[in-house]
Amino acid sequence: MEFAPSRKQFWINVVRLFVRPVTCQTAFFLLLFTLLVLPDVLTESICSTLSFYRIPTGLFVCYLLSLPVVLLSSMFRRSYKTTIGILASILFVVDIYMLILYGQTLGTVSKESISAILATNPAEAYEFASVYLTTDRLLVVVVSVSLVLILFYYVKNLHFRWNNISRGVLAALLLLSVYSTIGQWSKVVESNIYYLLTKECPDLREYRQNPTVVSDGEYVDNIVVIIGESFSKYQSSLYGYEKETNPLLGELRADSSLYVYENITSACVTTIPSMKSIMMAYTDSMGDSIEWYRCLTLLEVMQKTGYRTYWLSNQSKTGLYDNEVGRFADLCDEQFFVGDKYSGMVRDSKDEELLPLFEDCLSNDTTPKFIVLHLMGSHAEYDKRYPAEYGKYNSDDYVESHSHLSSSNRDVVAQYDNTVLYNDYVVSELMKRVLAKDAVVLYLSDHGEDVFRSSCDYCGHATERSEQHKNVVRQIPLMFYTTPLFRDRHSALQHKIESSVKNPYRTDSIMYTIMDMAGVETVNGVSYKHKSLLK
Ligand SMILES: [Zn+2]
Repeated sequence: MEFAPSRKQFWINVVRLFVRPVTCQTAFFLLLFTLLVLPDVLTESICSTLSFYRIPTGLFVCYLLSLPVVLLSSMFRRSYKTTIGILASILFVVDIYMLILYGQTLGTVSKESISAILATNPAEAYEFASVYLTTDRLLVVVVSVSLVLILFYYVKNLHFRWNNISRGVLAALLLLSVYSTIGQWSKVVESNIYYLLTKECPDLREYRQNPTVVSDGEYVDNIVVIIGESFSKYQSSLYGYEKETNPLLGELRADSSLYVYENITSACVTTIPSMKSIMMAYTDSMGDSIEWYRCLTLLEVMQKTGYRTYWLSNQSKTGLYDNEVGRFADLCDEQFFVGDKYSGMVRDSKDEELLPLFEDCLSNDTTPKFIVLHLMGSHAEYDKRYPAEYGKYNSDDYVESHSHLSSSNRDVVAQYDNTVLYNDYVVSELMKRVLAKDAVVLYLSDHGEDVFRSSCDYCGHATERSEQHKNVVRQIPLMFYTTPLFRDRHSALQHKIESSVKNPYRTDSIMYTIMDMAGVETVNGVSYKHKSLLK
């Protein structure tokens, strides 16, 4: 079917008008697209997480931003273009900076990272930045800013020729981008940083479930759970690492009071989702299928079983916004945060400051007790985690064993190993504090740390890295310490602890193991014994 000339001309004119915001200012449009969309696409391509909606939505947004250029009178056009150009350049530089610092841009930042960033206070953010913002990375920022300037200079002078066919193709692409943006609207909204920032962090006390708990009545006077931070089993002599990083815990193991578990993985690779999966019946894989704060919490089950609950922490309770981990502390009968003393300062309180708090907690006669200790452990920045006398290792000790690393990275390994050595002291001291009591201590790390294992230039635990990296981070140490009195009184439990050291287990079920130790038979009529690590 042929269009009559006038009808054909009509459609040509419609297409011309529709694509005019792009065609009359092609250089401006390309510049916007490069500055606003390219960093996101680049990030997601690097991490192999490129989402289908990213490019079409970017096209659509740039089209909308270009619209005023054809609508405004020439008087305002120039100042509009300048303003938008400057804002887009600032966003580009921020994106590049974030990409280097967090491995994510403003547009690709994940929910976990947002909560992690918000959960840190300014002092922690400063520490974090000083770990990751090295001179060569600063150089990358400088280079990217120069690139923007060069881009501006060249694109400004480019001329584009559009004909009917290229206009038609452009119109089709733009229509597709509108269609795709509308189709993926919920994703676009949920990945919006403003949405993530304003998403509430509910008070868990308002979501108590008041479960019916049936217990076998066999209470352990003290159940202690130590949640470590970023402790990699690959850097622990308990797990065969060549440096003697766990001498004191090694002695407890030789003494048959410490049981080191061999096949344990964490469900998540960052603190907040990991803590949720440990402290409640929520696991990361549930995603948004359920509101996490409506899930049953371990603390409530322990309280209903008859345990008095304590939360002792060397991590901060509140960051710039409410910290989700702090919400678990609110559920406890008593809570103490070492970090409270240091608010507003660069915080380097050492984990041993928990020892007197722990002693106070043990000294009152109330039993049974359930005590959660949350350590700073091996959190970056490593050299702030241990006192000078634990600085046993330095980069010279790694010249042969880590010859593939640069000297500054060998320094980082040495500092990391010193955190493990200091953690060895703190954890073994905590265990010794309960020696004369009826007590069991469970130690596990929230997640591990990739100390240059998946790549010789990366150390940390990031969500947006390769599967190989995440597999390294998921390998965590877990151990049980039992006292003579505990072994006497709870021989069946002791036997199960001894015989389970090789069981493969993921820590998003650890709540059921703790319930098992506490003598919980059923919760709301359901038995969870099959989910326990202890068999
Ligand atoms: Zn952590």
